[in-house]
Amino acid sequence: MSVLVVLEQHRMSWEAFAAAQQFAQEMGTTLEAVVVASQELATQAATKKAAKIYSVEHPALTSYTADAYTAALEALVLQAKPTLVVFPHTYQTRDYAPKLATRFGCALISDVVAARFERGAPVFVRQFFQGKFNGDVRPNGDAPHFLSLQAGAWRADALEAGSAPVEKFAPALDASRFRQKAEPPFRESARAVDLTAAEIIVAVGRGIKEKDNIPVVEELAKALGAELAASRPICDAGWLPMERQVGSSGQTVSPKVYIAVGISGAIQHLVGMKGSKIIVAINKDANAPIFEVADYGIAGDLFEVVPALVQEIRKVKS
Ligand SMILES: Cc1cc2nc3c(=O)[nH]c(=O)nc-3n(C[C@H](O)[C@H](O)[C@H](O)COP(=O)(O)OP(=O)(O)OC[C@H]3O[C@@H](n4cnc5c(N)ncnc54)[C@H](O)[C@@H]3O)c2cc1C
Repeated sequence: MSVLVVLEQHRMSWEAFAAAQQFAQEMGTTLEAVVVASQELATQAATKKAAKIYSVEHPALTSYTADAYTAALEALVLQAKPTLVVFPHTYQTRDYAPKLATRFGCALISDVVAARFERGAPVFVRQFFQGKFNGDVRPNGDAPHFLSLQAGAWRADALEAGSAPVEKFAPALDASRFRQKAEPPFRESARAVDLTAAEIIVAVGRGIKEKDNIPVVEELAKALGAELAASRPICDAGWLPMERQVGSSGQTVSPKVYIAVGISGAIQHLVGMKGSKIIVAINKDANAPIFEVADYGIAGDLFEVVPALVQEIRKVKS
């Protein structure tokens, strides 16, 4: 019985590692981690608290394909016999983890946002209907069970340091059975704006109504010396560039102050900003979910509130 976390070169791996440490502790079992074809990552993982790091090596794994990764991890899971196999919910794991799970006759419990333990037995929380409902998923049947964790749902800074031995695992793979040919890896587009370094962020949502109103919040950002960010619909509409999007499919930020203007607080947005030190929300709907994570809230019309704030900030600063 153990928890096995699958790591890749992605910041979300450290969140999954931290979560897996917590799961192993709650379940009273050991934690092992696995790294595929990256000695650099294996060396990094070895500085964290875990019983063992498996470093999976084979010439067929040098470039990613779902076929080769599935075959290699299937061999490892058969050997390591974990109870839980934990993945970060990255583009890559979305591609092959369901296939790996079906090799063991089960479905991947994907995009998990929380977990609790009932006498050591895990209950995972997933969202349905675009975050409108949360549902509990209790793995049943024989182990292993496979799950992936949503970006931002666990904090990487909770990851405990330690010293773990690295064990080489060389699966016997028959490359002639792999149908896929590796293509150049997917790269997220280069970012001209690094929101992760910003101390103050003013983020704008659909409450702004139309592109021509964006200067209303731009003025607030300017007055505060803040970076401008946005919820996804604003970037999808091309009102602000994609690199300014915060959330599960945008950037994850943790500034000193995050001011959400006309943003409802959908889970996909919250996961990208809930680590901010102080959250201020301006929304005309006093029941908007953003107020649940806000330290300060103004229930009001942004077209009245924001210009008034700008005026006051300018007065204080002058
Ligand atoms: C797979 C997936 C990934 C996603 N990734 C992301 C992501 O990375 N980032 C992200 O943000 N979203 C993401 N989403 C979308 C997310 O589910 C929400 O649809 C989105 O966050 C909503 O944006 P919003 O809050 O700006 O708009 P809305 O939900 O429409 O909210 C607008 C808010 O403005 C308020 N408002 C309206 N007029 C005013 C006014 N005059 N003054 C003050 N307040 C006003 C309203 O009360 C409302 O609360 C994703 C969705 C999916 C399915």
